Amino acid sequence: MSRPEAGGPEKHESCMASITLSKLNKHYGALHHAVKDVDLTIADREFVALVGPSGCGKSTTLRMIAGLEDISGGEIRIGERVVNHLPPRDRDVAMVFQNYALYQHMSVYDNLAFGLRNKKISEAEIKAAIDRAAEILGLHDLMKRRPRQLSGGQQQRVALGRCIVRNPVAFLFDEPLSNLDAKLRAQMRIEIKRLHAQVPTTSVFVTHDQVEAMTLGDRVVVMRDGRVQQAGTPLVVYNNPVNRFVAGFIGAPAMNFLDVTIRREGVVLVAQSAAVKLAITEPSGEALAAWIDRPVVMGVRPEHLVLGGDGVLSRSFQANVEVVEQLGSEILLETRVGQARVTVARVAPETQLAAGDQVRLSVQPGRLHFFDPNSEAAITA
Ligand code: ADP
Repeated sequence: MSRPEAGGPEKHESCMASITLSKLNKHYGALHHAVKDVDLTIADREFVALVGPSGCGKSTTLRMIAGLEDISGGEIRIGERVVNHLPPRDRDVAMVFQNYALYQHMSVYDNLAFGLRNKKISEAEIKAAIDRAAEILGLHDLMKRRPRQLSGGQQQRVALGRCIVRNPVAFLFDEPLSNLDAKLRAQMRIEIKRLHAQVPTTSVFVTHDQVEAMTLGDRVVVMRDGRVQQAGTPLVVYNNPVNRFVAGFIGAPAMNFLDVTIRREGVVLVAQSAAVKLAITEPSGEALAAWIDRPVVMGVRPEHLVLGGDGVLSRSFQANVEVVEQLGSEILLETRVGQARVTVARVAPETQLAAGDQVRLSVQPGRLHFFDPNSEAAITA
């Protein structure tokens, strides 16, 4: 990577960088191991979303990249530079926080200029950098206002603008949309995506919201209990979750899980319980040959179940409707299948159904997932 040392707005095209985490660890005191052996390379210009439930170590990972948290073990490289012991200001990354962190007593213009003035850049250059950021984010009409005179979305745009003018090697986002209402979150998501298309800077975005992660990330990194579970494109983590946790975390409504036993019936394998008996036509069927007469966990997403038997009885089963949720665009059904609760999505809104009805549900081809009941790893071919 070749880039000038001085941090000025003119350096833009040359300041990209990858971020490499190697065996990254964080201990808080003797007892708490918050980040465990994280290996991850974020490519130059890539947008990676770190996602997982609260407490899984995603913010700690981000804060270690930023230099706001010491690391307990491993290595962090930004570009070619090992930054383990560099203070945050020397890492040339910009962080966007949930609470915006704007200076309340300064105008929007001065908020945007603040970081650059500290670097002793000429006012003309500062103005050029601010004009460009304002153009990208639509901030021109807000320049004279104070942060308290702005809506939450506008404040978040100013916070983004402050990152853009600094022209950093990477953007680090720590749950930046959590304070916004649902509609504004969706809008800001699109703005961030648009921003990344216009200013394709290496980005790491921390969120507990899998929809945010899926929609924003070139790649989604799912964490649990300090460890990376899976890193892949949104479609890969959706279609090929490596374990039951990822399968249940990615996708809404969440994947249904049923306890079944694998049996051989002539030339086919079936997944069987007291309530279901399904022919396995999935590619993972081959791997299931090792599981004959053993219990496994079967997973199927709500959107991969369809109402009706279609005559292919070997891929359908009976369910009792317990709750009908009319969303206008679709119906969500909560059903019971033996002991298991099974959600069905994308039922046509005009479908006449009520609690207590019996329905038949078919599984779309290729959509069954199977997991080892002990390790919870996906059973794949
Ligand atoms: P996330 O961002 O995924 O919600 P964090 O990275 O904030 O999770 O925290 C990971 C784990 O480390 C949590 O169990 C949290 O309680 C713990 N932790 C975070 N910060 C500290 C701290 N300063 N001291 C002790 N434990 C901490």
